[in-house]
Amino acid sequence: MRHLIFCGNGCFFLCLEVRKSNIFEAVKESVTTRQAAEYYGVQVGRNGMACCPFHDDKHPSMKVDRRFHCFGCQADGDVIDFTARLFGLSGKEAALKLAEDFSVRYDAKGHDPPRRRPVKRKISEELRYRQAEQKCFRVLCNYLHLLERWKVEYAPQSPEDELDDRFVEACHMIEYVNDLLDVLMFAELKQRVKAVDMLLKDGTITALEQRLRRLEKEVQHHGEERAIA
Ligand SMILES: [Zn+2]
Repeated sequence: MRHLIFCGNGCFFLCLEVRKSNIFEAVKESVTTRQAAEYYGVQVGRNGMACCPFHDDKHPSMKVDRRFHCFGCQADGDVIDFTARLFGLSGKEAALKLAEDFSVRYDAKGHDPPRRRPVKRKISEELRYRQAEQKCFRVLCNYLHLLERWKVEYAPQSPEDELDDRFVEACHMIEYVNDLLDVLMFAELKQRVKAVDMLLKDGTITALEQRLRRLEKEVQHHGEERAIA
């Protein structure tokens, strides 16, 4: 179809169609789901198995290669589907993100075949940041879920009840943690980098991660009731 582009104005619509499909093709040709998964912080084993980011997966049940398939929740698709779902994007947005993150060249006019620049060095730097961001996100999400549970479970039953520390903490922290997650999800890159840097440098994430792990162990050993922070 591409040669039709040169036919003149009459083929403008066709040009647009080629443009549209071009980025999808370019991305799918240049980036495997496995590369994208690793780049966005999903750990993939040597056998290509990973913990599925789309369901609560304790043991790796997702196979990632050029495409992906989860044997747990049946999630399935190509690199664009994967990225779209991971970040809650449309297919087009995911393709654009992949093109940017992996420096995939696609000719907006649809003339050239897709090409890819060597970007190894850039990837390793970005990968490090992505993993840091992913870690902050994961720890904060876990903390938020815990706080939301505490806010309900330990809410005072009557006005005379003494306030439970967990309830108080939940009331104080939920909004703050939500705001942090908003920044990590939606802010400009510059702001996100700053937030991740701050969270990791001041030890917030490490301390929180250790505390959550300790709480989880206490819950396992003594049951929910004695899991006091
Ligand atoms: Zn799954």
